[in-house]
Amino acid sequence: MQADLQNIVEPLLKWYQKNKRELPWRKDKDSYHVWISEIMLQQTRIEAVKSYYHRFMKELPTVKSLANIDEEELLKLWEGLGYYSRARNLKKAATVVMQQYDGKMPTTYQDLIKMPGIGEYTAGAIASICFNEKVTAVDGNVLRVISRVVGSTKDVLLPETKKEIEKDLKEIMPEQSGDFNEALMELGELVCLPNGGPECEKCPLQKNCVAYEKNLTQEIPVRIKKVKRKQEEKTVFLLMTESYKIAIEKRMEKGLLSGMYQLPNGKGYYKEEEMKELLTNWNLKVKQISFLTEAKHVFTHIDWYMKCYLVMVEQENSRFLWVSQEELKEKYPLPTAFQKCMKIGK
Ligand code: SF4
Repeated sequence: MQADLQNIVEPLLKWYQKNKRELPWRKDKDSYHVWISEIMLQQTRIEAVKSYYHRFMKELPTVKSLANIDEEELLKLWEGLGYYSRARNLKKAATVVMQQYDGKMPTTYQDLIKMPGIGEYTAGAIASICFNEKVTAVDGNVLRVISRVVGSTKDVLLPETKKEIEKDLKEIMPEQSGDFNEALMELGELVCLPNGGPECEKCPLQKNCVAYEKNLTQEIPVRIKKVKRKQEEKTVFLLMTESYKIAIEKRMEKGLLSGMYQLPNGKGYYKEEEMKELLTNWNLKVKQISFLTEAKHVFTHIDWYMKCYLVMVEQENSRFLWVSQEELKEKYPLPTAFQKCMKIGK
């Protein structure tokens, strides 16, 4: 079977009308709402994004409020979502909207893509969903669905494969471009699932799908990973006083998790003697060291393998910022990686 992509448009749109989920940012198709949700969805699944989205919108209901927020408060609001440069870019883009577009979001793909942090996918999603512009929005879900439908064994991680799929979709893009793009993504989220788990019996595209016909759903999409991931071992210290104050420090202004706070830590796994030496160098009088937990955190190109220790100290010192658990929760953005080390009772 040769898939004719034109044939997927109608069944897909019909399926979407019946099956689309009620999502908070779908209610009004407001471009600010769609923008924020799309950036959040780039790193987290829909169900998890909902609570972040509500919290964000409660604090920052308008582009203006986003442009004006203090960066540290913004990072706190973004805590747990990871990829903190995305939060910073949101603020930068909001500032551009205030300064160059009179506080109103740009309405075309060409203008949207010039904004900090808005790439082809996000510009396409906003322009099509909110302004019905006939542009594509191709994310991982769409790459998977289309590769399966046409039976393509090309590597979906290659930019040229994405370009080809964008071109094919552009040719069949209906007037309801926003619905069509969302329908493809929704089908990828709900039915044409990754990792060999598509639920083809529920799929409106079954009759048009080469991968289904040829029993290739396990093989497609093809993803050839070339990047070798870096692995880093770390010893992380939860330094605590008798009054339960915890030591944190600000990370460098550049690099991974820049500008966020962290628990004091060192590269590699420390032996007990090495730990004591390091803690003495930090001018701390140690009362007790106990092993807390091991944790792993996965970033884009690097994995951290952490051994975490609780260190009870006699008193605070000036090297670190000493905060209560409440203050830490309320005020200081602490990346999820370090939160994994905080498995203690109060
Ligand atoms: S028939 Fe199966 S593999 Fe093909 S698009 Fe539908 S869910 Fe995906």
